[in-house]
Amino acid sequence: MRGIAILGSTGSIGRQAVDVVLRHPDKFYVTALTAHNNAELLFEQVRALRPSLAALTGEKTEVPEDLSFCRFLFGREALETVAREAEGTDVLAAVVGVAGLRAVMAAREKGKRILLANKETLVAGGEMVMNACRESGGEKVLLPVDSEHSAIFQCLEAAGPNHYESILLTASGGPFRTWEKEKMHRATVEEALGHPTWNMGAKITVDSASMFNKALEIIEARWLFDAKPEQIRVLVHPQSIVHSAVEFADGAVLAQLGVPDMRVPILYAMSYPHRLETGAKKLDLFQAKSLTFEQPDMEKFPAIAMAYQVLRQGGAAACVLNAANEEAVYAFLQRKILFGQIYEAVDAALQKWAHLPAKSLDDIAFADEKARQAAGEYLQL
Ligand code: NDP
Ligand code: MG
Repeated sequence: MRGIAILGSTGSIGRQAVDVVLRHPDKFYVTALTAHNNAELLFEQVRALRPSLAALTGEKTEVPEDLSFCRFLFGREALETVAREAEGTDVLAAVVGVAGLRAVMAAREKGKRILLANKETLVAGGEMVMNACRESGGEKVLLPVDSEHSAIFQCLEAAGPNHYESILLTASGGPFRTWEKEKMHRATVEEALGHPTWNMGAKITVDSASMFNKALEIIEARWLFDAKPEQIRVLVHPQSIVHSAVEFADGAVLAQLGVPDMRVPILYAMSYPHRLETGAKKLDLFQAKSLTFEQPDMEKFPAIAMAYQVLRQGGAAACVLNAANEEAVYAFLQRKILFGQIYEAVDAALQKWAHLPAKSLDDIAFADEKARQAAGEYLQL
Protein backbone atom coordinates (compact mmCIF):
# COMPACT_ATOMS: atom_id res chain seq x y z
CA MET A 1 0.00 0.00 0.00
CA ARG A 2 1.29 3.48 -0.92
CA GLY A 3 0.12 6.49 1.08
CA ILE A 4 -0.47 9.55 -1.08
CA ALA A 5 -1.20 13.20 -0.28
CA ILE A 6 -3.13 14.99 -3.04
CA LEU A 7 -2.45 18.74 -3.16
CA GLY A 8 -5.24 20.32 -5.21
CA SER A 9 -7.63 17.37 -4.93
CA THR A 10 -10.68 19.38 -6.08
CA GLY A 11 -9.16 20.30 -9.45
CA SER A 12 -9.25 18.47 -12.76
CA ILE A 13 -6.10 16.44 -12.03
CA GLY A 14 -7.00 16.05 -8.34
CA ARG A 15 -10.45 14.62 -9.07
CA GLN A 16 -9.03 12.18 -11.61
CA ALA A 17 -6.41 11.12 -9.05
CA VAL A 18 -9.20 10.45 -6.55
CA ASP A 19 -10.95 8.38 -9.23
CA VAL A 20 -7.92 6.13 -9.81
CA VAL A 21 -7.25 5.77 -6.06
CA LEU A 22 -10.84 4.57 -5.58
CA ARG A 23 -10.31 2.00 -8.36
CA HIS A 24 -7.41 0.47 -6.43
CA PRO A 25 -8.20 0.57 -2.70
CA ASP A 26 -5.84 -2.38 -2.17
CA LYS A 27 -2.87 -0.43 -3.60
CA PHE A 28 -3.29 3.19 -2.42
CA TYR A 29 -4.67 5.13 0.51
CA VAL A 30 -5.01 8.90 0.78
CA THR A 31 -3.14 10.55 3.65
CA ALA A 32 -4.06 14.19 2.96
CA LEU A 33 -6.18 16.36 0.66
CA THR A 34 -6.14 20.09 -0.09
CA ALA A 35 -8.37 22.58 -1.90
CA HIS A 36 -8.26 26.34 -2.25
CA ASN A 37 -11.92 27.45 -1.93
CA ASN A 38 -14.05 24.49 -2.91
CA ALA A 39 -14.85 23.43 0.68
CA GLU A 40 -17.95 21.48 -0.30
CA LEU A 41 -16.09 19.08 -2.61
CA LEU A 42 -13.15 18.84 -0.21
CA PHE A 43 -15.49 17.76 2.60
CA GLU A 44 -17.09 15.20 0.33
CA GLN A 45 -13.67 13.81 -0.61
CA VAL A 46 -12.58 13.69 3.04
CA ARG A 47 -15.77 11.77 3.86
CA ALA A 48 -15.06 9.24 1.10
CA LEU A 49 -11.29 8.82 1.50
CA ARG A 50 -10.85 9.43 5.26
CA PRO A 51 -7.39 11.11 5.24
CA SER A 52 -5.95 12.18 8.59
CA LEU A 53 -5.04 15.67 7.31
CA ALA A 54 -6.76 18.21 5.05
CA ALA A 55 -6.32 21.87 4.17
CA LEU A 56 -8.28 24.71 2.69
CA THR A 57 -5.74 27.29 1.50
CA GLY A 58 -8.22 30.02 0.54
CA GLU A 59 -11.06 31.16 2.81
CA LYS A 60 -11.58 29.60 6.22
CA THR A 61 -14.85 27.67 6.61
CA GLU A 62 -16.62 25.76 9.37
CA VAL A 63 -15.84 22.03 9.24
CA PRO A 64 -18.84 19.65 9.49
CA GLU A 65 -19.00 17.69 12.76
CA ASP A 66 -18.85 14.26 11.15
CA LEU A 67 -15.32 15.05 9.84
CA SER A 68 -13.75 15.36 13.29
CA PHE A 69 -11.52 12.32 12.53
CA CYS A 70 -9.50 14.59 10.17
CA ARG A 71 -7.21 17.47 11.20
CA PHE A 72 -8.04 20.58 9.13
CA LEU A 73 -5.57 23.40 8.41
CA PHE A 74 -6.34 26.78 6.85
CA GLY A 75 -4.48 29.51 4.97
CA ARG A 76 -1.76 29.78 2.35
CA GLU A 77 0.96 28.17 4.46
CA ALA A 78 -1.19 25.10 5.07
CA LEU A 79 -0.13 23.68 1.70
CA GLU A 80 3.50 23.48 2.81
CA THR A 81 2.52 22.03 6.19
CA VAL A 82 0.49 19.30 4.51
CA ALA A 83 3.36 18.50 2.12
CA ARG A 84 5.70 18.23 5.08
CA GLU A 85 3.51 16.47 7.64
CA ALA A 86 1.30 14.12 5.62
CA GLU A 87 1.97 10.46 6.28
CA GLY A 88 2.97 8.15 3.45
CA THR A 89 5.61 8.24 0.76
CA ASP A 90 4.06 10.24 -2.08
CA VAL A 91 2.84 13.77 -2.72
CA LEU A 92 0.83 14.49 -5.87
CA ALA A 93 1.36 18.18 -6.69
CA ALA A 94 -1.83 19.07 -8.56
CA VAL A 95 -2.39 22.68 -7.50
CA VAL A 96 -2.28 25.27 -10.24
CA GLY A 97 0.42 27.91 -10.54
CA VAL A 98 3.64 28.73 -8.75
CA ALA A 99 1.73 28.43 -5.43
CA GLY A 100 2.88 24.79 -5.42
CA LEU A 101 6.63 25.52 -5.35
CA ARG A 102 7.18 25.85 -1.60
CA ALA A 103 5.10 22.74 -0.95
CA VAL A 104 7.15 20.69 -3.41
CA MET A 105 10.39 21.86 -1.76
CA ALA A 106 8.96 21.02 1.69
CA ALA A 107 7.94 17.55 0.53
CA ARG A 108 11.44 16.92 -0.84
CA GLU A 109 12.97 18.04 2.46
CA LYS A 110 11.00 15.24 4.07
CA GLY A 111 12.17 12.76 1.43
CA LYS A 112 8.76 12.40 -0.20
CA ARG A 113 8.38 11.20 -3.76
CA ILE A 114 6.83 13.96 -5.89
CA LEU A 115 4.28 13.14 -8.57
CA LEU A 116 4.32 16.40 -10.50
CA ALA A 117 1.37 17.76 -12.45
CA ASN A 118 2.04 21.33 -11.28
CA LYS A 119 4.44 22.29 -14.09
CA GLU A 120 4.66 25.97 -13.03
CA THR A 121 6.72 24.82 -10.05
CA LEU A 122 9.42 23.42 -12.31
CA VAL A 123 9.25 26.35 -14.69
CA ALA A 124 9.80 28.89 -11.91
CA GLY A 125 12.22 26.91 -9.74
CA GLY A 126 13.64 24.23 -12.06
CA GLU A 127 17.27 24.42 -11.02
CA MET A 128 16.49 24.57 -7.31
CA VAL A 129 13.91 21.76 -7.41
CA MET A 130 16.17 19.48 -9.46
CA ASN A 131 19.09 20.12 -7.10
CA ALA A 132 16.86 19.25 -4.15
CA CYS A 133 15.90 16.00 -5.87
CA ARG A 134 19.48 15.08 -6.79
CA GLU A 135 20.96 15.87 -3.39
CA SER A 136 18.43 14.08 -1.27
CA GLY A 137 16.90 11.35 -3.33
CA GLY A 138 18.78 10.31 -6.44
CA GLU A 139 16.72 8.88 -9.26
CA LYS A 140 12.98 8.68 -9.61
CA VAL A 141 11.93 10.94 -6.75
CA LEU A 142 10.24 13.32 -9.18
CA LEU A 143 7.83 11.55 -11.51
CA PRO A 144 6.05 13.48 -14.27
CA VAL A 145 2.26 13.51 -14.51
CA ASP A 146 2.01 15.93 -17.44
CA SER A 147 1.01 13.63 -20.32
CA GLU A 148 3.88 14.59 -22.67
CA HIS A 149 6.50 14.26 -19.96
CA SER A 150 5.04 10.99 -18.76
CA ALA A 151 5.28 9.79 -22.38
CA ILE A 152 8.92 10.88 -22.64
CA PHE A 153 9.67 9.26 -19.28
CA GLN A 154 8.05 6.00 -20.44
CA CYS A 155 10.04 6.06 -23.71
CA LEU A 156 13.27 6.62 -21.78
CA GLU A 157 12.41 3.75 -19.42
CA ALA A 158 12.07 1.56 -22.50
CA ALA A 159 15.38 2.81 -23.90
CA GLY A 160 17.49 1.19 -21.20
CA PRO A 161 21.00 2.65 -20.95
CA ASN A 162 20.76 4.58 -24.25
CA HIS A 163 20.78 8.33 -24.10
CA TYR A 164 18.37 10.21 -26.38
CA GLU A 165 19.36 12.64 -29.11
CA SER A 166 16.20 14.68 -29.17
CA ILE A 167 12.77 14.98 -27.62
CA LEU A 168 9.70 15.36 -29.85
CA LEU A 169 7.18 17.20 -27.71
CA THR A 170 3.69 16.97 -29.17
CA ALA A 171 1.06 19.71 -28.90
CA SER A 172 -2.62 19.59 -29.84
CA GLY A 173 -2.38 23.14 -31.19
CA GLY A 174 -5.39 24.18 -29.10
CA PRO A 175 -8.63 25.76 -30.31
CA PHE A 176 -6.91 28.54 -32.32
CA ARG A 177 -4.64 26.35 -34.44
CA THR A 178 -6.40 27.31 -37.67
CA TRP A 179 -7.45 30.87 -36.73
CA GLU A 180 -6.03 34.05 -38.22
CA LYS A 181 -3.76 35.96 -35.87
CA GLU A 182 -5.98 39.06 -35.74
CA LYS A 183 -9.09 36.99 -34.89
CA MET A 184 -7.16 35.16 -32.17
CA HIS A 185 -6.03 38.47 -30.66
CA ARG A 186 -9.70 39.24 -29.90
CA ALA A 187 -10.82 35.73 -28.91
CA THR A 188 -13.36 35.53 -26.08
CA VAL A 189 -13.00 33.59 -22.83
CA GLU A 190 -15.55 31.01 -24.08
CA GLU A 191 -13.57 30.49 -27.29
CA ALA A 192 -10.31 30.08 -25.40
CA LEU A 193 -11.90 27.58 -23.01
CA GLY A 194 -13.09 25.33 -25.84
CA HIS A 195 -10.17 22.89 -26.01
CA PRO A 196 -10.59 20.32 -28.78
CA THR A 197 -9.13 17.21 -27.08
CA TRP A 198 -8.47 17.66 -23.34
CA ASN A 199 -10.84 18.64 -20.52
CA MET A 200 -8.77 20.59 -17.96
CA GLY A 201 -8.78 23.47 -15.44
CA ALA A 202 -9.33 27.02 -16.76
CA LYS A 203 -5.74 28.26 -16.46
CA ILE A 204 -4.11 25.41 -18.39
CA THR A 205 -6.91 25.53 -20.98
CA VAL A 206 -6.12 29.19 -21.72
CA ASP A 207 -2.41 28.28 -21.75
CA SER A 208 -3.17 25.60 -24.35
CA ALA A 209 -4.98 28.17 -26.50
CA SER A 210 -2.04 30.62 -26.34
CA MET A 211 0.50 27.78 -26.53
CA PHE A 212 2.07 29.11 -23.34
CA ASN A 213 1.29 25.61 -22.09
CA LYS A 214 3.78 24.23 -24.62
CA ALA A 215 6.25 26.95 -23.64
CA LEU A 216 5.98 25.84 -20.00
CA GLU A 217 6.35 22.22 -21.12
CA ILE A 218 9.53 22.94 -23.10
CA ILE A 219 11.00 24.37 -19.89
CA GLU A 220 9.61 21.46 -17.84
CA ALA A 221 11.25 18.97 -20.24
CA ARG A 222 14.56 20.83 -20.03
CA TRP A 223 14.66 20.21 -16.28
CA LEU A 224 13.11 16.75 -16.06
CA PHE A 225 15.30 15.23 -18.77
CA ASP A 226 18.37 17.44 -18.51
CA ALA A 227 17.86 18.52 -22.13
CA LYS A 228 19.56 21.30 -24.03
CA PRO A 229 17.06 23.73 -25.60
CA GLU A 230 18.06 22.59 -29.11
CA GLN A 231 17.27 18.97 -28.20
CA ILE A 232 13.56 19.76 -27.70
CA ARG A 233 11.33 20.04 -30.78
CA VAL A 234 7.61 20.86 -30.79
CA LEU A 235 5.29 18.98 -33.17
CA VAL A 236 1.68 20.02 -33.54
CA HIS A 237 -0.38 16.81 -33.52
CA PRO A 238 -4.10 17.75 -33.38
CA GLN A 239 -5.38 14.22 -32.56
CA SER A 240 -3.49 14.06 -29.19
CA ILE A 241 -2.84 10.32 -29.63
CA VAL A 242 0.98 10.40 -29.74
CA HIS A 243 1.72 11.92 -26.33
CA SER A 244 5.37 12.57 -27.22
CA ALA A 245 8.40 10.74 -28.61
CA VAL A 246 12.15 10.41 -28.22
CA GLU A 247 14.76 10.00 -30.96
CA PHE A 248 18.00 8.00 -30.65
CA ALA A 249 21.40 7.97 -32.38
CA ASP A 250 20.46 5.04 -34.66
CA GLY A 251 17.45 6.93 -36.05
CA ALA A 252 14.93 4.95 -34.00
CA VAL A 253 12.05 6.94 -32.54
CA LEU A 254 10.14 5.63 -29.53
CA ALA A 255 6.71 7.13 -28.92
CA GLN A 256 3.98 6.58 -26.37
CA LEU A 257 0.40 6.48 -27.66
CA GLY A 258 -3.03 6.33 -26.09
CA VAL A 259 -6.39 8.07 -25.91
CA PRO A 260 -6.21 11.51 -24.27
CA ASP A 261 -7.14 10.61 -20.67
CA MET A 262 -5.07 12.06 -17.81
CA ARG A 263 -5.87 9.09 -15.58
CA VAL A 264 -3.24 7.14 -17.52
CA PRO A 265 -0.22 9.35 -16.68
CA ILE A 266 -1.58 10.07 -13.17
CA LEU A 267 -1.84 6.38 -12.31
CA TYR A 268 1.44 5.51 -14.04
CA ALA A 269 3.25 7.99 -11.75
CA MET A 270 1.43 6.57 -8.72
CA SER A 271 2.03 2.90 -9.54
CA TYR A 272 5.41 3.22 -11.31
CA PRO A 273 6.95 0.92 -12.51
CA HIS A 274 3.72 -1.10 -12.64
CA ARG A 275 0.73 -0.50 -14.88
CA LEU A 276 -2.79 -0.79 -13.51
CA GLU A 277 -6.31 -0.48 -14.91
CA THR A 278 -7.28 3.22 -15.25
CA GLY A 279 -10.82 3.21 -16.64
CA ALA A 280 -9.52 4.93 -19.80
CA LYS A 281 -10.83 3.75 -23.18
CA LYS A 282 -8.45 1.57 -25.15
CA LEU A 283 -6.85 3.15 -28.20
CA ASP A 284 -8.48 2.08 -31.47
CA LEU A 285 -6.06 3.01 -34.24
CA PHE A 286 -8.59 2.01 -36.91
CA GLN A 287 -10.95 4.61 -35.51
CA ALA A 288 -8.16 7.20 -35.21
CA LYS A 289 -7.44 6.58 -38.92
CA SER A 290 -4.76 9.23 -39.48
CA LEU A 291 -2.20 10.84 -37.22
CA THR A 292 -0.92 14.15 -38.54
CA PHE A 293 2.01 16.37 -37.56
CA GLU A 294 2.73 20.03 -38.36
CA GLN A 295 5.29 22.68 -37.48
CA PRO A 296 4.00 25.13 -34.87
CA ASP A 297 3.28 28.62 -36.21
CA MET A 298 5.97 30.51 -34.32
CA GLU A 299 4.81 33.89 -35.58
CA LYS A 300 1.21 33.41 -34.45
CA PHE A 301 2.25 31.75 -31.18
CA PRO A 302 5.27 33.72 -29.87
CA ALA A 303 5.16 31.75 -26.60
CA ILE A 304 7.25 28.94 -28.13
CA ALA A 305 10.11 31.27 -29.10
CA MET A 306 9.89 32.91 -25.66
CA ALA A 307 10.46 29.50 -24.01
CA TYR A 308 13.69 28.94 -25.92
CA GLN A 309 14.73 32.52 -25.18
CA VAL A 310 14.27 32.18 -21.41
CA LEU A 311 16.05 28.82 -21.37
CA ARG A 312 19.08 30.36 -23.04
CA GLN A 313 18.91 33.31 -20.67
CA GLY A 314 18.73 31.16 -17.49
CA GLY A 315 18.35 32.62 -13.97
CA ALA A 316 14.84 33.79 -13.18
CA ALA A 317 13.83 34.42 -16.81
CA ALA A 318 11.51 31.38 -16.88
CA CYS A 319 10.07 32.37 -13.51
CA VAL A 320 9.31 35.85 -14.90
CA LEU A 321 7.66 34.35 -17.99
CA ASN A 322 5.53 32.11 -15.80
CA ALA A 323 4.47 34.78 -13.31
CA ALA A 324 3.57 37.36 -15.98
CA ASN A 325 1.61 34.70 -17.85
CA GLU A 326 -0.31 33.68 -14.69
CA GLU A 327 -1.18 37.30 -14.02
CA ALA A 328 -2.28 37.93 -17.61
CA VAL A 329 -4.32 34.70 -17.86
CA TYR A 330 -6.33 35.54 -14.74
CA ALA A 331 -6.92 39.08 -16.08
CA PHE A 332 -8.12 37.54 -19.35
CA LEU A 333 -10.41 35.10 -17.51
CA GLN A 334 -11.87 38.10 -15.65
CA ARG A 335 -12.43 39.75 -19.07
CA LYS A 336 -10.14 42.68 -18.24
CA ILE A 337 -7.80 42.23 -21.22
CA LEU A 338 -7.79 40.85 -24.76
CA PHE A 339 -6.42 37.37 -25.43
CA GLY A 340 -3.54 38.71 -27.53
CA GLN A 341 -2.42 40.97 -24.69
CA ILE A 342 -1.23 37.92 -22.76
CA TYR A 343 1.85 37.78 -25.03
CA GLU A 344 2.43 41.50 -24.71
CA ALA A 345 2.33 41.38 -20.90
CA VAL A 346 4.81 38.49 -20.75
CA ASP A 347 7.12 40.27 -23.17
CA ALA A 348 6.95 43.49 -21.10
CA ALA A 349 7.82 41.61 -17.89
CA LEU A 350 10.69 39.74 -19.56
CA GLN A 351 12.20 42.94 -20.91
CA LYS A 352 12.25 44.41 -17.43
CA TRP A 353 13.12 41.48 -15.14
CA ALA A 354 14.48 38.46 -17.06
CA HIS A 355 18.01 39.14 -15.76
CA LEU A 356 17.15 38.38 -12.10
CA PRO A 357 18.74 35.36 -10.33
CA ALA A 358 16.83 32.23 -9.19
CA LYS A 359 19.10 30.51 -6.69
CA SER A 360 16.74 30.40 -3.72
CA LEU A 361 13.06 30.50 -2.83
CA ASP A 362 13.51 34.17 -1.88
CA ASP A 363 15.05 34.99 -5.30
CA ILE A 364 12.15 33.28 -7.01
CA ALA A 365 9.54 35.02 -4.86
CA PHE A 366 11.17 38.37 -5.68
CA ALA A 367 11.29 37.73 -9.45
CA ASP A 368 7.72 36.40 -9.36
CA GLU A 369 6.47 39.54 -7.63
CA LYS A 370 8.35 41.92 -9.93
CA ALA A 371 7.07 40.09 -13.02
CA ARG A 372 3.46 40.27 -11.79
CA GLN A 373 3.87 43.98 -11.10
CA ALA A 374 5.37 44.62 -14.54
CA ALA A 375 2.58 42.64 -16.26
CA GLY A 376 -0.05 44.45 -14.17
CA GLU A 377 1.43 47.85 -15.03
CA TYR A 378 1.61 47.01 -18.72
CA LEU A 379 -2.00 45.82 -18.71
CA GLN A 380 -3.12 48.74 -16.52
CA LEU A 381 -4.84 46.38 -14.09
P1 NDP B 1 -7.63 23.15 -11.63
O1 NDP B 1 -7.81 24.61 -11.70
O2 NDP B 1 -8.71 22.27 -12.14
O3 NDP B 1 -7.37 22.72 -10.10
C1 NDP B 1 -6.44 23.38 -9.29
C2 NDP B 1 -6.43 22.81 -7.90
O4 NDP B 1 -5.56 23.61 -7.09
C3 NDP B 1 -7.80 22.87 -7.19
O5 NDP B 1 -7.85 21.87 -6.21
C4 NDP B 1 -7.77 24.27 -6.53
O6 NDP B 1 -8.66 24.37 -5.43
C5 NDP B 1 -6.31 24.34 -6.09
N1 NDP B 1 -5.78 25.70 -6.05
C6 NDP B 1 -6.07 26.73 -6.88
N2 NDP B 1 -5.34 27.83 -6.56
C7 NDP B 1 -4.60 27.48 -5.49
C8 NDP B 1 -3.66 28.19 -4.68
N3 NDP B 1 -3.35 29.47 -4.90
N4 NDP B 1 -3.07 27.54 -3.67
C9 NDP B 1 -3.37 26.23 -3.42
N5 NDP B 1 -4.25 25.51 -4.15
C10 NDP B 1 -4.84 26.13 -5.19
O7 NDP B 1 -6.25 22.82 -12.33
P2 NDP B 1 -5.81 21.49 -13.11
O8 NDP B 1 -6.15 20.29 -12.30
O9 NDP B 1 -6.25 21.57 -14.51
O10 NDP B 1 -4.22 21.68 -13.13
C11 NDP B 1 -3.42 21.48 -11.99
C12 NDP B 1 -1.96 21.49 -12.41
O11 NDP B 1 -1.71 20.37 -13.25
C13 NDP B 1 -1.57 22.73 -13.22
O12 NDP B 1 -0.26 23.09 -12.91
C14 NDP B 1 -1.64 22.25 -14.67
O13 NDP B 1 -0.76 22.96 -15.52
C15 NDP B 1 -1.21 20.80 -14.51
N6 NDP B 1 -1.71 19.91 -15.55
C16 NDP B 1 -3.06 19.75 -15.70
C17 NDP B 1 -3.56 18.91 -16.70
C18 NDP B 1 -5.03 18.68 -16.82
O14 NDP B 1 -5.44 17.82 -17.63
N7 NDP B 1 -5.89 19.34 -16.09
C19 NDP B 1 -2.66 18.22 -17.63
C20 NDP B 1 -1.26 18.43 -17.35
C21 NDP B 1 -0.82 19.26 -16.35
P3 NDP B 1 -10.20 24.87 -5.64
O15 NDP B 1 -10.86 23.76 -6.41
O16 NDP B 1 -10.70 25.00 -4.26
O17 NDP B 1 -10.11 26.14 -6.40
MG1 MG C 1 0.76 18.49 -21.12
